Amino acid sequence: MKREQVFEFFRRLAEANPSPTTELESANPYQLLVAVVLSAQATDASVNIATRPLFEQIKTPEQMVDFGEDRLRQAIKTIGLFNTKAKNVLALSHALIDQHGGEVPRTREELQKLPGVGRKTANVVLNTAFGEETFAVDTHVFRVCNRTGLASGKNVEEVEAKLEKIVPQPFRRDAHHWLILHGRYTCKARLPECWRCPVIDLCRYKPKTPPPKERTKSRAARTATRASSAARIAKGRTASRPTANRNRSRPTRLP
Ligand code: SF4
Repeated sequence: MKREQVFEFFRRLAEANPSPTTELESANPYQLLVAVVLSAQATDASVNIATRPLFEQIKTPEQMVDFGEDRLRQAIKTIGLFNTKAKNVLALSHALIDQHGGEVPRTREELQKLPGVGRKTANVVLNTAFGEETFAVDTHVFRVCNRTGLASGKNVEEVEAKLEKIVPQPFRRDAHHWLILHGRYTCKARLPECWRCPVIDLCRYKPKTPPPKERTKSRAARTATRASSAARIAKGRTASRPTANRNRSRPTRLP
C-alpha cells in the first residue's frame, strides 16, 4: 500500500471511530495488566464478566496477594486456562511488589520480565495505560494487515515491525485499537463484511464479500441450477433404461 493510501486507510477508520480504546474494563494500570494477561485466548467480553466483581475488591497487587491464588482461581474459572492464569497473576503481583514498589513498570523490557507477560501484553499496557505509540499485534490485527496489504508479514513480529514503519501521525497511538476493532466487527475471520467496509477500495483482498441480499440471490440461483441439473440427470437415467435392458439380455460370457 502506498503512503497516501495508508494515511487514507487510518483517516477513514478514525473518522468512523474517533476515540477507540480497549474493550477490556479496568480502572488503573494494574487492573489493565491483569485483564490483558487473562485475555490470552479468551474474549474481552468473557474477561470482563469475571473481572467486574473481582476488580470491585482488588485494585492493587498487594490486595491480589492477600486475596490468594485459590480465590482468584474461583473468580476466573469461566475463562480458559484459568489455572495457569491465576498462577501468573499471583506471581506477577509478587514481582510488582518486590521489584517495582507495587507499580506497573513503564518499559517493555521490565514488563516482559513479569510472569505471563509477552510482547503483545506489554504493548497493550504501554499503549493503553501509558499512551505509548506501540503496535500490539493480535489475531485480528494480523489478519487485517495481511488481508488488506497494509502490513503483510509471516508472523506477528514482521507485522509489528511493518506497522512501526508505515503508520503515520496522527494515527500512531490509536492504530492498533482501530485495527483490532476493524478485525473484530467488520473484517471478520470467516466472512469479512466488505459491503459495509470504509476501506473497501484501498484493500487488496479478493473476492470481496457482497451484501447479504446479493448473497441470498446467488444462493437461490445456485440452488435452482443444482435442481435443474439433478432433473436433467434423472431424465437421462430414465432415457437410458432401454439400453441398460438391452445390455442385460446379451450374454456376459462366451460359452
Ligand atoms: S474490504 Fe473486506 S477484506 Fe478488505 S478490509 Fe474491508 S472487510 Fe476486510
